[in-house]
Amino acid sequence: MTPEELTNRVARIRQELTEASDGRYPAPRLIVVTKTHSAEEILPLARAGVTEIGENRVQELLGKLDGLQDLFQIHLIGRLQRNKVKPIIGNVCMIQSVDSEPLAMEIHNRALAAGRRMPVLIEVSPAGEAQKGGVPFGETEAFLKRIAPLEGLEIRGLMAVMPLTEDREYLDGLFARTRGLFDRLRDRNLGGVTMEELSMGMSGDYRLAAAHGATMVRVGSAIFGPRG
Ligand SMILES: *Cc1c(COP(=O)(O)O)cnc(C)c1O
Repeated sequence: MTPEELTNRVARIRQELTEASDGRYPAPRLIVVTKTHSAEEILPLARAGVTEIGENRVQELLGKLDGLQDLFQIHLIGRLQRNKVKPIIGNVCMIQSVDSEPLAMEIHNRALAAGRRMPVLIEVSPAGEAQKGGVPFGETEAFLKRIAPLEGLEIRGLMAVMPLTEDREYLDGLFARTRGLFDRLRDRNLGGVTMEELSMGMSGDYRLAAAHGATMVRVGSAIFGPRG
C-alpha cells in the first residue's frame, strides 16, 4: 500500500466516524491497530496524521518498538499475561485489557516500581463470552471498587470487544448496553476512577460504535487490508 492510499483510508474512516456520531457525541479517536505489521509499514501512518496505535502482543511489540516509540502513543489492547507486564510498563500509554485482580495488582506494582501511574481500561464482556475474557457487566462496578484503591493505576474507562457476527441489530443492542453501562458507572463518581474513555468498535463495526458514543475505535484491517 502506498503512503497516499494509507492517508486516504485514514481520512475516509475519520470522515465516517464524524458522520456516524452525528453531533450526538464527539467523534471517536482513531487507534490504528498495527499488529502483524512491521515498523516500516507502520511509520507512514505518522504522515497520515495518526498519533495512536494499538498492539495486542507484547513480544511482537517489543521487537518493533524502535522507531515507533518517538512517533506514536502505543496502546496495549490484547490479553495480557502477568509475566508480560514488566517489559511494557515503560513503553505503552495505556493498557486496555484489565479484567482480573491479579493483573490489576501486577500493573499497579510494576507501575509504582517504575515511578509512574499506568492508565488502564477495564475490559468488559458485552456478550458474556467467558472464554474471551472481560468482566461481566453485572460484576463491573464491584470490580472497579476493588481495584480503585491501587494507586499505581489510573482507571480511565471501559474497553469492549464485540462478538463476530453479521447480526447488526444484535450488535446495535450490545453497543447500546455497553454505552449504558459506561454512563451509569460514570454517574456513580467512584473514587479513584475517571470514566472518560470508552474503547469499542473495530473494522467491521466502527460506525455503529461511533453512533453509540465510543471515545476511541480500534481499527486494523479496514486500513491495512485483511491479515494473511
Ligand atoms: C485485532 C484487534 C482489533 C482490530 O481488528 P480489525 O478487525 O482488524 O479492525 C481491535 N481490537 C482488538 C482487541 C484486536 O485484537
